[in-house]
Amino acid sequence: MSTGRLFTLMPCASRKLGRSPKVQEEDRMSDGSLIEWTDATWNPVRGCTKVSPGCKHCYAQTFAERWRGIPGHPYEFGFDLRLVEEHVGDPLKWIKPRRIFVNSMSDLFHEEVPFEFIEKVFRVMKTANWHTYQVLTKRPERMREFAKEFGKKLVEHPHIWLGTSVEDQKYGLPRIPVLRAVPAGVRFLSIEPLLEDLGEMNLEGIQWVIVGGESGLGARPLAKEWVVSIRNQCRAQRVPFFFKQWGGVRKKVLGRELDGRTYDEFPLVAPQVAPTQRERARRIGEAERATGLSLVA
Ligand code: SF4
Repeated sequence: MSTGRLFTLMPCASRKLGRSPKVQEEDRMSDGSLIEWTDATWNPVRGCTKVSPGCKHCYAQTFAERWRGIPGHPYEFGFDLRLVEEHVGDPLKWIKPRRIFVNSMSDLFHEEVPFEFIEKVFRVMKTANWHTYQVLTKRPERMREFAKEFGKKLVEHPHIWLGTSVEDQKYGLPRIPVLRAVPAGVRFLSIEPLLEDLGEMNLEGIQWVIVGGESGLGARPLAKEWVVSIRNQCRAQRVPFFFKQWGGVRKKVLGRELDGRTYDEFPLVAPQVAPTQRERARRIGEAERATGLSLVA
């Protein structure tokens, strides 16, 4: 689930280092991320289709289409939706606890991703519980449907954060009550790219809000008063507020300060502890039995 143009600097950064396209892709898809609010990305699904104005400049699509037709490249099929079974077990391989953005290059709850596959992804998240997962969707109705069918035991855990994107009043705001109906350890909003004043918001049941402007060529403008309004509402409703960026054509120039400071707040959760080698092996076995997949081959 791309959050607008989160990835603007990544390909350039990799090119500077003279890495092959394959290595660039591995860099951006797994451990290590330039996204300010996460440590790593995990993409058991690739590709997506646009649903609302926030998708207009989806960088995941631009990036993926660049590699269409290149045999052997992870994006050989461009932005066509694909399930990537060989990456379902990635978090089990990462020993150090991380915050992991799930599907930065897709949307886990896309209509073409079968619930059986989403179940496998959740089984891995539930088992590899030394990480924190940030699952962001523009399709919270399907997330709600999945939670209803598979139950709280699979979905509701403090280390699995479920979020939705909110870019405007027409498409974004109606997603909030839908998310609120999903059982979750932490519910969050990614208000990026913020496209207009959102007015008054009910943040009941929401534990984290991220705000950011669009970046890159053709970036749509962001007004300071829209951001201030959200920050003030977060303060009034005691919700942690993370200001990601002002955005613009050259996002580094505008930076990410608001009223002379940065806002890097996160939900308060207990720190995760890395498992022992033995315990991790036990968990891998458990996840393999639950998913029927060979996860760390
Ligand atoms: S929902 Fe899909 S098309 Fe829209 S921004 Fe996210 S990844 Fe891109």
